[in-house]
Amino acid sequence: MNGRSLRVLFVASECAPWVKTGGLADVVAALPPALVTAGLDVRVCLPYYRSLRPEVGEAPPVATVVGALVRKARLPSGIIAYLIDAPWLFGRDGGPYQDADGSDWPDNAQRFGLFARAAAILASDETPLLWRPDVFHGHDWQAGLGPLWLKTSLPKPAPSIMTIHNLAFQGVFPAQTMEALRLPPEVFAVEGAEFYGRLSFLKAGLHYADMLTTVSPTYAQEIQGEAWGCGLHGLLTRRRADLTGIVNGIDDRVWDPATDPLIAARYDRDHLAEKAVNKASLQRRFDLALDPARPLFAMVGRLTWQKGVDLIAEVADRLVRAGGQLVVLGTGERSLEDVLRGLTHRHRGAVSVRIGFDEALAHEIEAGADIFLMPSRFEPCGLNQMYSQRYGTPPVARATGGLADTIDGVDPEGCEGSGFLFDEPMGTALWAAIERALGAYRTPTCWRRIMVSGMRKDFSWAASAERYRTLYEGLIRDAGRPA
Ligand code: ADP
Repeated sequence: MNGRSLRVLFVASECAPWVKTGGLADVVAALPPALVTAGLDVRVCLPYYRSLRPEVGEAPPVATVVGALVRKARLPSGIIAYLIDAPWLFGRDGGPYQDADGSDWPDNAQRFGLFARAAAILASDETPLLWRPDVFHGHDWQAGLGPLWLKTSLPKPAPSIMTIHNLAFQGVFPAQTMEALRLPPEVFAVEGAEFYGRLSFLKAGLHYADMLTTVSPTYAQEIQGEAWGCGLHGLLTRRRADLTGIVNGIDDRVWDPATDPLIAARYDRDHLAEKAVNKASLQRRFDLALDPARPLFAMVGRLTWQKGVDLIAEVADRLVRAGGQLVVLGTGERSLEDVLRGLTHRHRGAVSVRIGFDEALAHEIEAGADIFLMPSRFEPCGLNQMYSQRYGTPPVARATGGLADTIDGVDPEGCEGSGFLFDEPMGTALWAAIERALGAYRTPTCWRRIMVSGMRKDFSWAASAERYRTLYEGLIRDAGRPA
């Protein structure tokens, strides 16, 4: 590279603040600037969804690939973004993967097939751009065909790395999709992109990429087992030498109670009294009884089986009987939304639910709640438990994936640690952990220690960015390029 910075192209379907449905968007927004700080040259490749137009501002076309325009724009962080503008695929109202009614777009294979192919070309000798990456870094199934194209069809391909943010989403399509996407027929094999007679975008990425990562060491272990391997545990076990777990960081400028403009009163670990102002404000906002002494529990996130929302519903009556209050913000499965609505009717003034996606309210909840609930059945990394520790709102969480790796569990009788962990994905186990949290909460000195120990933790991206840098350098060495 003759002394120039190592170049990495991030290829992903989401990037905050432009397009976000979950944690992937936060990672793709925050990791590139951290890598730039570490001395790398990182750019991001995204589909040019219609919803991006008002956000992006001017984005001049700089090239054409596979019939799509490549537009160039700058993210608010200053990172350069290449936007794949294929209006027949992305120029429509609705979400990135689904229409306004929540049904998957019927042409998702075409949409992300073309997107990944265009991005792969940008990382090969066929690129029309002057800036050519040393590494292709794909994220989740939407980028999965990129490594396949690089390995099988493109001249002088950059080495590739795939990051699994959630193995449960795989982008599996009928076998005929192979032909529609003009994929080389020989890749439709068990040692390739075939998944039980169908085409799997994620499997393609995991098979053809040179290196694999996922977003926590514990999840990297869990997905090699049948229970959480989603049918890909065999492949992941075979490739375990190439699979690394690196915990996500958080954007600690956006999520900082000392400077957060979205919360009622700012505070830090030396000024914890102000947290009470946020609690009162949250109780008001959710029409809860205004009572500083009642422990206020919260959950923010997708309302799905994965997140253990049913377990929260199971313990809600007991939680209210124990004097607690509960607020929930999220959207997801209709049946779970209905269960939560039922709880609010039964426990007016004690349980309150907002169905929707509201970033500002998520900040208010992190600041105003006393205890954060995250009883996920599986959690590749999870961000909310890090936000909540930083906001002095200790989490009660299942010891899985990134939750196990980022929360220091408080011992049964102790006050050392930053949250409360439990093992079995059952209401009784969640309740036992909540009881431990309530015990600590009622002992103010103990509670304060737990709060402060979470607030002291370093969740910044710097350490993880260094680990990615080491991986990229290794990849380039293995690919026989000058490092
Ligand atoms: P996942 O990516 O599995 O949905 P994470 O905890 O990794 O879960 O990341 C979810 C991100 O999305 C967090 O930043 C969280 O605060 C945010 N989020 C999820 N649902 C909502 C919502 N309804 N309103 C506001 N923010 C939300």
